[in-house]
Amino acid sequence: MCRGSEVLVVGGGNSAGQAAMFLSEQTRRVFLLLRSGDLQKGMSSYLAQRVESKENIEVLPHTEIRRMLGDQQLEAVEVENTQTGEVRTVATTAVFTFIGAIPRTDWLPAEIETSARGFVLTGPEVAGSPRWSAGRAPFLLETSRAGVFAAGDVRVGSINRVASAVGEGAMAIKFIHEYLAGFLAAGENGEAQW
Ligand SMILES: Cc1cc2nc3c(=O)[nH]c(=O)nc-3n(C[C@H](O)[C@H](O)[C@H](O)COP(=O)(O)OP(=O)(O)OC[C@H]3O[C@@H](n4cnc5c(N)ncnc54)[C@H](O)[C@@H]3O)c2cc1C
Repeated sequence: MCRGSEVLVVGGGNSAGQAAMFLSEQTRRVFLLLRSGDLQKGMSSYLAQRVESKENIEVLPHTEIRRMLGDQQLEAVEVENTQTGEVRTVATTAVFTFIGAIPRTDWLPAEIETSARGFVLTGPEVAGSPRWSAGRAPFLLETSRAGVFAAGDVRVGSINRVASAVGEGAMAIKFIHEYLAGFLAAGENGEAQW
């Protein structure tokens, strides 16, 4: 859709860096907008180096979008350098934003505690929670509802990597086995505590 044109990528993390590299292969120029002044601050250094050495990627530090202009479709974006106050209009038909993910957890019942941003609390984070009612310490990936586990990006403090999400998934299975063994051993009278 934007082959041969100039595009904007917003964000300073690895997702934005990967997107900028990918888009630079097909487009004439990629403007990478950073709120901070340093690409290495939020991006792996190997990726930041690749971005910086790519001829058709222009990194715009301390820059935020102010207005998006166009009639039937996007035609230009007004950006401002927050340090100098300089406003610049970039002609573009496409903007890609990589400024953080919102977890789809609003359907979770209240007994499963989430952070203000909607990420699920697990393990030691729920040990002191008023929602934690079992008479034991929670397993590492257990939510505030005993017997319900969370793995991957949806957790507070996740490492946000494929390998860690897969590893946590495997760990959660192990904890579920332990949970079930304890639950069965607790018997009828101990169920409420377990
Ligand atoms: C652009 C980008 C580049 C990345 N690059 C890398 C990289 O190079 N290396 C790396 O290790 N990591 C990378 N990551 C991070 C990596 O993708 C994640 O950390 C990883 O995918 C997390 O796995 P997950 O299973 O926790 O979540 P996800 O992969 O997000 O999977 C969650 C799944 O749950 C589904 N879902 C959501 N709500 C519901 C519901 N109510 N019912 C049923 N299903 C639901 C979603 O559709 C999705 O399929 C990148 C991420 C992005 C966005």
